[in-house]
Amino acid sequence: MLPGLMQDSPLSLTALMRQAKTQHGQREIVSVTSDNPRYRYTYADAFDRAAQVAHGLAALGMREGDRVATLAWNDHRHFELYYGISCSGGVCHTVNPRLYKEQIKYILQHAEDRWVFADPAFIAVLEDMQDELGDVEQFVVLTDVANMPITRLKSAVSYEEFIAGHSVSFDWPQLDEHAASTLCYTSGTTGDPKGVLFSHRATVLHALSVSLPDAMCLQQGDCVMPLVPMFHVNAWGIPYAAPMVGAKLVLPGSSMGDGAALQKLITHENVSFSLGVPTVWLNLLAYLDSAAKTIDPLQRICVGGAACPAVVIERFESDFGVQVSHGWGMTEMSPVGSYNAPKYAVADMANAGSMALRLRQGRALVGVEMKIVDDAGAELAWDGVSAGTLKVRGPTVCSAYFKDDAPILDSEGWFDTGDVATIDADGFMQITDRTKDIIKSGGEWISSIQLENTAVNHPDVAEAAVIGIAHSKWQERPLLIVVLKESARADRQHLLSWFDGKVADWWVPDDAVIIDELPHTATGKIDKKVLRARFSEFRFGAGDALGD
Ligand code: AMP
Repeated sequence: MLPGLMQDSPLSLTALMRQAKTQHGQREIVSVTSDNPRYRYTYADAFDRAAQVAHGLAALGMREGDRVATLAWNDHRHFELYYGISCSGGVCHTVNPRLYKEQIKYILQHAEDRWVFADPAFIAVLEDMQDELGDVEQFVVLTDVANMPITRLKSAVSYEEFIAGHSVSFDWPQLDEHAASTLCYTSGTTGDPKGVLFSHRATVLHALSVSLPDAMCLQQGDCVMPLVPMFHVNAWGIPYAAPMVGAKLVLPGSSMGDGAALQKLITHENVSFSLGVPTVWLNLLAYLDSAAKTIDPLQRICVGGAACPAVVIERFESDFGVQVSHGWGMTEMSPVGSYNAPKYAVADMANAGSMALRLRQGRALVGVEMKIVDDAGAELAWDGVSAGTLKVRGPTVCSAYFKDDAPILDSEGWFDTGDVATIDADGFMQITDRTKDIIKSGGEWISSIQLENTAVNHPDVAEAAVIGIAHSKWQERPLLIVVLKESARADRQHLLSWFDGKVADWWVPDDAVIIDELPHTATGKIDKKVLRARFSEFRFGAGDALGD
């Protein structure tokens, strides 16, 4: 090999932080916390306080690779911890506070976190389990002295007390770009949660690739408000990408599901770009409709985490002038893997720009390789029709789970996403289902995602899920479960006939049930595991479409 003669500076979050501070130090961060409804400061201020965090941890004896947990909303203190911990050599372990108590305990124990930084909202959960968290030396509560709650947590101090008195400059160590920076557990379908351990290098590469024009198209003039939590896969990379490009950052605290608060933040702070799961956008639309409000500054949104319903694209674009893009990813992919941006030379020009194309999950990000395979592992054609298991590979994809020896890559380094997808000739990938959610009827596959999208387009439907129910003749048949909008009147028959002409006859669900609320996972997706358990005894009645 003839080695290239370029410098070997590590792709580290420290380099990203330095660049952001020197180039965009005066750009603003606006943050909502329990002790301050609209805190305002700059990136330079935030990185100064990150240095104080680093001093605080160094004084306690943090070693390189030590895990430091956070249970926190999207706010400025959480942002400071992202950098203060990772850039001083620790691993910022973001814990999802919406998980079940037992899972939170398992995750803190498994990661062997030495310190826990927690929002006041999550103190009670931690108090109950602290005796079983043998590795935790101290708890820091994310508030100031005046608002510090009375707590039984071990050696608890307020965050402001923790950083007070420390210097705002820190001698940041030169870190290996392959060193771990961040840890996030993903609650898989079976077994215990699994830790995805991101490296500095993967995190920097991910920040670069999501910022590109055919992805989030981030730039210095943007004002970005992530409505995806910083406790789940780094809010899709925004806390790194926004300072890297110099965009203003709006961190909405605990109000991510509060339409009125979000509408105010968008209009008062001039938010131009925001990201969230479909439920967040459906909630915001419902609020805007009921309160007759607008969101004029908002130019673009990214919808991901679950399939984007057509109604989200239609309503945001035609009623509010907001451009909608669909993205896909998973914790194991840092997390964004694909983004749907139009391509000039679309092979299928008749469909270019059509809703069908817009609903696809898009093209692989720079650095991500994709393929689809059949049950025997043979690669399938990129023809937009052949559906198979989606596999991915690349520097932002995980290679193993934390403290887990089980191999997760095949012999060629491909990671099985657990999703079923098609890819068309232009590289647009479409998720047709999760491997475990697909409905197998008479040996053929029915996409639960497509049925859910069709159901959600019904004007009376607020949210919909489709699950497979065991069937004596067809093996499985689809059951539609919906939550209606307030004062909507659609009944079972009406909901089922909505599918006529919109999907193949044999895809039409055999039955529909209306319930008050759908269960959601800790990351805001519909929890089909819970639905399957709840409807495990369900049997189709006389009205089923295919009969026995
Ligand atoms: P998580 O690791 O919790 O972020 O979940 C990742 C999974 O969410 C993926 O494997 C997909 O099944 C699902 N997912 C994410 N984005 C989308 C999307 N745009 N459309 C359909 N499913 C999605």
